[in-house]
Amino acid sequence: MLNSNELISLIKDYNPNCNEDLISRAYEYGKNFHDGQFRVSGEKYFNHPIEVAKILIRQKLDDATIATAILHDTVEDTDLSINEVKKNFGNDIALLVDGVTKLTNLQISSGETKQAENFRKLIVSMSKDLRILLVKLADRLHNMRTIKALPAEKQLRKANETMEIFAPLAGRMGMQSMREELEDLCFRVLNPEARNSIMRRFLKLKNVNVDLVPKIIQDIQKELQKVAIKATVLGREKKPYSIWRKLEEKKESFTRLSDIFAFRIITRSEGDAYTALGAVHQRWRAVPGRFKDYISQPKSNGYRSLHTTVLGRDGKRVEVQIRTIEMNEVAEGGVAAHWSFRDGELFENPFAVDPLAWVRSLTDGFEGAENLNEFLEHVKLEMYNDKVFCFTPTGEVIKLPRGATPLDFAYSIHTRIGDHCVGTEVDGKRVPLYTRLRNGQSVKIITAKGQRPQINWENMVLTGRAKSAIRRSVRYDRRMEDIRLGREIARNSFEKVNKKVTEQALVTAAKKIGEKTSDDILAALGGAELTGMDLIKLIYPEMFKGKSLPENTGEVTSFVGLPSGAKGKTALCCRPIPGERIVGISRKGKGVLIHAIDCEQLKDFEAKNENWLDLRWPKNSGSDGYSTSLLVTLLNKAGALGKICSLIGEQKANITDIKFFKDRADYYIIYIELEVRNIEHLMNILAAIIADEDVAEASRYRGNKHEFTLLPSPIVKS
Ligand code: MN
Repeated sequence: MLNSNELISLIKDYNPNCNEDLISRAYEYGKNFHDGQFRVSGEKYFNHPIEVAKILIRQKLDDATIATAILHDTVEDTDLSINEVKKNFGNDIALLVDGVTKLTNLQISSGETKQAENFRKLIVSMSKDLRILLVKLADRLHNMRTIKALPAEKQLRKANETMEIFAPLAGRMGMQSMREELEDLCFRVLNPEARNSIMRRFLKLKNVNVDLVPKIIQDIQKELQKVAIKATVLGREKKPYSIWRKLEEKKESFTRLSDIFAFRIITRSEGDAYTALGAVHQRWRAVPGRFKDYISQPKSNGYRSLHTTVLGRDGKRVEVQIRTIEMNEVAEGGVAAHWSFRDGELFENPFAVDPLAWVRSLTDGFEGAENLNEFLEHVKLEMYNDKVFCFTPTGEVIKLPRGATPLDFAYSIHTRIGDHCVGTEVDGKRVPLYTRLRNGQSVKIITAKGQRPQINWENMVLTGRAKSAIRRSVRYDRRMEDIRLGREIARNSFEKVNKKVTEQALVTAAKKIGEKTSDDILAALGGAELTGMDLIKLIYPEMFKGKSLPENTGEVTSFVGLPSGAKGKTALCCRPIPGERIVGISRKGKGVLIHAIDCEQLKDFEAKNENWLDLRWPKNSGSDGYSTSLLVTLLNKAGALGKICSLIGEQKANITDIKFFKDRADYYIIYIELEVRNIEHLMNILAAIIADEDVAEASRYRGNKHEFTLLPSPIVKS
């Protein structure tokens, strides 16, 4: 820990006329007061106020602010102790210390009305003297730097409060470095995984570009020399949290140097800044749409700078900010620049924002606000640039990230409201659910019982809460649907072997594949992880002993017209069945492949007549089952599939596989693989299916099931 003299010499570096007596008295007073006190980390408590003072010294603040920092934790909220500070250090410092103490005692992020009340106190105390807030921010910064010593729960609470209130406040005050450091310290606590992944990538990119940064600085300096401008050129790493926020907003990856590094030219005069810009643009091509002149049009927090991005070395993007020394002070220190020293004198920075005017701009228009909540939301609105605030029909305020939709809004009220959402009115007008909400809009969610989340909703929402709720619901719905369909398949498969489905049998089968309940095995069936035949095999393995499964391999040997000794095999592209006209294509050494006469593949052989064989089905064909498939477009309605399965069963055909593909909202496409005797059998089945009232379309599918999975529709049930 610094001793009194060391601290004073730090101040003297920028303020040789500093009141040494005041600082050393404050130092002794604080040291005595905190004697015997320790922080959670185990270090001496007095170290903390000294570190806070050092943060403010770095911002070159006046004696009163530094003394306040040293004393900021010495006053319990009593008249007695504040009077003692007044007696020892005068009215000015007593007021500052009292203000900081009151701020510290505010529980800003608690309760609704209490929060508003406290927030107003914060603004009011700020408006008395903004230096109170400067000390408070420095206090919070040091506490965040040492937050790892606290229990996890307290870390989260502090980090949330800092991210919500103090970091944006620092930003509003123009204190960019303070804001960035606060945000990054919160980011470590609130989302360590995200920060780690950013850091890993960051270091990789940095390693790749390690030589590039000094080279780019040299390049820029060379150009500045040509136009005889003296300036400081800096390369600056971007902070993980600001990279993260940009990624979140733009949904882009970060791959470029300009994503992690920015360059800064600090000039001696405004004229030099524009000359430097000209030199940079003359040497390198400017990226369109990236030039901004915040010197002729400063931001409301006093920020002044020229921004541009150029294609530098090897066409790499280089982001450059150009500004004067004074402008840079304001850009880094914000309102603190108002109290800055230069050459031992309080320095009047022409660009610094007058603190009183700044506070007025924050509180303007809210003087008469009767409703505290309204006041709070107005102030928050002003502060949070990355948030939107919308209203429920009853006037409640809902805070959402910028870019959120009515669905986010619905889910942030209640999961039930989100799940049942069918539409939305924004400011009294019906709009699509993917509409991005804007500040101050009033949002009404229209719900209907029985409505369930759609899978595409996931792409319409921004908040994690909505995303996970939608995923959960869709997963649940899909499982329910799988179980319903699985039950139909199970019933059908059991009937084929003249058995009845029992709960006991299903549980037995479930256990054999490492699941627990009958629902689990039905879901596996319905989800096409398991076929009906697999299920029967699990329960009655003895049925299949010594028997190969009646699987259709396409092997048929005895076609009429085959050369003696040759083997025939039905082609998988068209899967002909008995009764259809067929053609054999002989392949040297590989037997004969049997195609249906209208198979597309035959075109490839038209030129090679010698390979064509005119074949007929053997007489006894039709007693075995031939594998074929159907595509049925079926109404999404309870019992509809069961009816189709029964229809097929009545025709004495075996279903060997069923897959479900979602087409339109109300219909499924169902792929049914079955075994039929011949073409007549198949046509009878098709006719029966088409006659069903719930069927929109039904047709034979020539290809096999492996090809079928290549169809574009994903399996989606909702
Ligand atoms: Mn403190």
